[in-house]
Amino acid sequence: MSGIRYRIIRRRVKYPRLEIWGNEIWIIVPGNVDPWRVVRQNREWLIRQIEIARRAAELSGKIELVPRTRRKFRSLIERVVQEYAEELGVEVNRIFVRRVKSAWGSCSGRGNITINAAAQWLPERLVRYIAYHEVCHLRRWRHDREFERLVREKFPDHEDLDLQLQAYWIKLREQDKACSKS
Ligand SMILES: [Zn+2]
Repeated sequence: MSGIRYRIIRRRVKYPRLEIWGNEIWIIVPGNVDPWRVVRQNREWLIRQIEIARRAAELSGKIELVPRTRRKFRSLIERVVQEYAEELGVEVNRIFVRRVKSAWGSCSGRGNITINAAAQWLPERLVRYIAYHEVCHLRRWRHDREFERLVREKFPDHEDLDLQLQAYWIKLREQDKACSKS
C-alpha cells in the first residue's frame, strides 16, 4: 500500500463514502461516524481500488498533457456538450468551466454543467467522456443501472478511461495544474 494516502474528511453527508483521487483515498464521513470502521467494511472494494490507483500512478509516468488554450478548451466543451445533449434529447442550461476541488465535472438540478478547468490538459476522448457523463445526469440523476448502461453503450472502454483519468489527475497534481485540495 505504499504511496497511498488516506484523507479523512468530515462533512455533512448522509452516508459515509469512499473516493479515490489519484493516490489518495478520501474517507468522507459525517461527524459521528468512525472512518476506520467504514474502511473495514469496504475492505475488498478498497483493495481493488488501491490496485487501480497503483496502476494509475504507474501510467501517470507515461502519459503526456495535451497543450490546448483555455479558449480552445472552452469551445471544445461547448461543442461536445451540445452534441451529447442533442443525442440524449436533453436540455442544457449553462456550461461552466472552472476549477473544482474534487471532480472532473458536475451537473446541477437546473441543468447547469460544470467542467473542471484542469480537464483542459486532457486528450479529447477523455474530455468527451467527462462531458458525456455529466450530460447523462440530465437523463438520470443517480449513478444507477440505467445511468451505467448509457455510459457503457457510448464508452465500452469506460474502465480504461477511468484509469486514464486517475493517471491524469496524478500527473496534473504533480505539475500543480489540478486544483489544490485543502
Ligand atoms: Zn456522476
